[in-house]
Amino acid sequence: EVNLMERIKMKSEDLFKDAKNYLPGGVDSPVRAIKPYPFFALKGEGPRLFDVDGNSYLDYCLAYGPLVLGHSYPPVMEAVGQQLLRGSAYGVPTEAEVNLAREVVKRVPCAEMVRFVNSGTEATMSAIRLARAVTGKKKIIKFEGAYHGAHDYVLVKSGSGAVGLPDSPGVPEETTRNTVLVPFNDEEAITNLVEQEKDEIAAIILEPVMGNVGCIPPQKGFLEFLRKITSENDIILIFDEVITGFRIASGGAQEYFGVTPDLVTMGKILGGGFPMGAFAGKRELMERIAPQGDVYQAGTFNGNPISITAGMETLKNLDKDYYRESESKGLQMRRGLGDILEDAALEYQVAGLSSMFQIYFTPTKVWDYAQAKTADVEKFNTYFRTLLANEVFIPPSQFECCFISAAHTPNDIELTLEAMEKGIKAAEK
Ligand code: PMP
Repeated sequence: EVNLMERIKMKSEDLFKDAKNYLPGGVDSPVRAIKPYPFFALKGEGPRLFDVDGNSYLDYCLAYGPLVLGHSYPPVMEAVGQQLLRGSAYGVPTEAEVNLAREVVKRVPCAEMVRFVNSGTEATMSAIRLARAVTGKKKIIKFEGAYHGAHDYVLVKSGSGAVGLPDSPGVPEETTRNTVLVPFNDEEAITNLVEQEKDEIAAIILEPVMGNVGCIPPQKGFLEFLRKITSENDIILIFDEVITGFRIASGGAQEYFGVTPDLVTMGKILGGGFPMGAFAGKRELMERIAPQGDVYQAGTFNGNPISITAGMETLKNLDKDYYRESESKGLQMRRGLGDILEDAALEYQVAGLSSMFQIYFTPTKVWDYAQAKTADVEKFNTYFRTLLANEVFIPPSQFECCFISAAHTPNDIELTLEAMEKGIKAAEK
């Protein structure tokens, strides 16, 4: 195994020691606490992230999804710079937020009205509240391993940084009792549950492509099945498109798979690299949101002009060419990984679609959380550290998803595949 210390030298190590005095675990979000210490960022440029010790990495983490155009994309930074000169928060409406809402409505099939918030967490929290209000019911169905943010309703067997934590202390049982878990892609489990509890179930919330336990697509017909069973039983269908929104198609997973939910939650790409979340849906549902309706939702920084500007400028670049290139670069990566595995006679899983990908170190086909958890995490960790030593940064967990940006060239991907071949070989030693 390559010695990580050789690449990431003194400065990051010292900073991490210091950080641990002031920040729990030395970080502001759990997954960032890479062992033995994370590299500290100096700057990002295009497909690369630079650290304080003089290293640079081809970045497939991309801040966990928002940086669809790569780091510090000049037109976005310039638009934000212009906006900064005019102020950063107003507490009154702007024309820009109306324009961005119109753009979301134009792109996203279920969206007729939008509320901008500050994070994906706030978006799912508010969408669930709205679903409970309109149905007058309390329970929600969530899929094992799905991550919908860090709030109480959904912090039950989550993915992302919370994989393996069945719950968090401090989350009341009274809250999670209303959150019912089922395996992804399991129509029978959902049918049974809905039969028994349809009078109590307000919503089914899902990541249409699971992106917080690696990458798990829906099986053929699964989203259609969910659409049908929710429509027939007065249950609100919520697609959490915080990752897939604007990524896998202009209108997200609902366009990609041709299934329209009642509500959608968004974030990441929509803020163009700045804090942002949003939820949207059919007019008759969204009209229930305050002040038009009675369902409370508010925020000092909702629709803040910096994130709105960055989001608008980002969406301008997500045209047909972007989605076509994104498909072809994703294919290049997944085929390249498949070839490496075949040459090495290894039967691991290459997962993903569009610009999303992951390799699972397991011979088991992965369609749900339990199957994802059969992956060999030790092997993944060796793969991850070998990539880092070869100037490639992917999210530091088997249970995250990797992203390709518009800034990555086919040549960058070739270089990355060379590093990945070394990583896979190192994991097998
Ligand atoms: N939903 C999904 C599908 C996510 O991937 C995430 C974040 N990774 C969230 C919700 C929460 O978003 P945020 O971190 O902006 O609160």
